[in-house]
Amino acid sequence: MINLILLGLPGAGKGTASEQIVDKYHLTHISTGDMFREAMANKTKVGLEAKSYIDKGNLVPDEVTAKLVEERLSQPDIKEGFILDGFPRTTVQAELLEGITQRLNKPLTSVISLEVKEQTLIDRLSARFMCKKCGATYNKISKMPKVANTCDRCGSHEFYQREDDKPEVVKNRLEVNEKMNSPLKDFYEKKGLLTVINGEQTPKKVFEDISAVLDKQQ
Ligand code: AMP
Repeated sequence: MINLILLGLPGAGKGTASEQIVDKYHLTHISTGDMFREAMANKTKVGLEAKSYIDKGNLVPDEVTAKLVEERLSQPDIKEGFILDGFPRTTVQAELLEGITQRLNKPLTSVISLEVKEQTLIDRLSARFMCKKCGATYNKISKMPKVANTCDRCGSHEFYQREDDKPEVVKNRLEVNEKMNSPLKDFYEKKGLLTVINGEQTPKKVFEDISAVLDKQQ
């Protein structure tokens, strides 16, 4: 059983790594960012509440986020294990997650942190764009759709830049997340769960390093 947390600042490559991990290990991918974007698109209560924080690059309150995660982890498709992508982002959330994994009897087996220099993050985020329909992520420099203007995943032709990937928001977003990142790593280091991986490498090499950790857990 693999129950994994992927840590890393926005743009570190968590989404790309998650896709590869899902393909190989058949885990359920839980991205709080994706869940919030879906909730905003559907204008649910959580979505409307989250929007004011997200559009400025701030974090949604810990309790709101943790509740969303607990509901998702309670669903039956999680039996094969999960990847948490973008949660926890604060030590308060990490502590709330301890309660959740205990209540649901789904202990964490590994925490992987993808580490990337700040300038690389800024370059990646400003080049990032998304499919309007399915949320697949692309990058003007390193990951264009295989067929021009057509989403690889769903075939849609409409793309957009995330509001929070715009330069004026990115700076605040990185600051907010950087402040929280090292205490979070310390938290899992102390528990003996943390592996740090160099996210500046090619996606293929990053995934090889991740596989080396996960293969031991199967
Ligand atoms: P992401 O797609 O992971 O970069 O998340 C986009 C935005 O959603 C973040 O900038 C936050 O505003 C919000 N968000 C996602 N995950 C969390 C979390 N664990 N705690 C608080 N806010 C979050």
